[in-house]
Amino acid sequence: MSVMLKVRNIETYYGPIMAIKGVSFDILEGAVVTILGANGAGKTTILKTLSSIMDPEKGTIEFMGRRIEGLPPEKIVAMGISQVPEGREVFHDLTVKENLLMGAYLRNDRAGIKRDIDMVYDYFPILKDRTGQLAGDMSGGQQQMVVIGRALMARPKLLMLDEPSLGLSPLLVKEIYQIIERINQEHNTTILLVEQNAPMALSIASHGFVLELGRIVMDDTCQALMANEDVQEFYLGIK
Ligand code: ATP
Repeated sequence: MSVMLKVRNIETYYGPIMAIKGVSFDILEGAVVTILGANGAGKTTILKTLSSIMDPEKGTIEFMGRRIEGLPPEKIVAMGISQVPEGREVFHDLTVKENLLMGAYLRNDRAGIKRDIDMVYDYFPILKDRTGQLAGDMSGGQQQMVVIGRALMARPKLLMLDEPSLGLSPLLVKEIYQIIERINQEHNTTILLVEQNAPMALSIASHGFVLELGRIVMDDTCQALMANEDVQEFYLGIK
């Protein structure tokens, strides 16, 4: 597998506060990769930096051989990076279908858009049943499906998900994770997953990074991470 994303020494600030303190990592094309870390470790800030919602003060980000740091966010989306933000931010006053179409706002291939709406409905049949319903009236789990579907409508090569399991029932978490696996396998979409639910994330990812206070302290296969005593103690609740 070739390297899809190459991150080198990025530093990202909130005003004077350095949240990301020189982070470097690679993501291979077609992989499912997870970033583990406690509250406030900087996981969300890394995703925001990759999608250009925040600019790094230092460092470089290379996506499929091209430097992307500092580009406008819509350019990043057009190049094939989509983010599912934390908190299930649907457009409350738009229908499910209108929400999905918002994800395709940079596209004008009508037939392709229609095909991809059908693909989203295939992943999440409940969204097809509720296509005309206002997204704001849906349950938390259904809203999570809408935001994942909306991100897919941009046809991402790299899909980044921020805490997709937060606040969902264990059954729903399992369902969402099965879909994430299918998206990876059926469309060869590379996945970068930020999670506090470490057991779930490690169960589908092949590689993981552990982030502490803005620094990567472990970078290894998930198998090795799961065998690590610190990971077992702090992230898997074993012992
Ligand atoms: P969580 O799981 O709680 O979302 P996280 O690992 O995603 O945590 P970040 O949200 O990336 O962490 O936050 C990293 C650091 O940056 C934290 O110390 C946080 O307090 C700080 N931070 C985050 N957002 C802001 C902001 N808007 N202004 C100032 N500091 C912020």
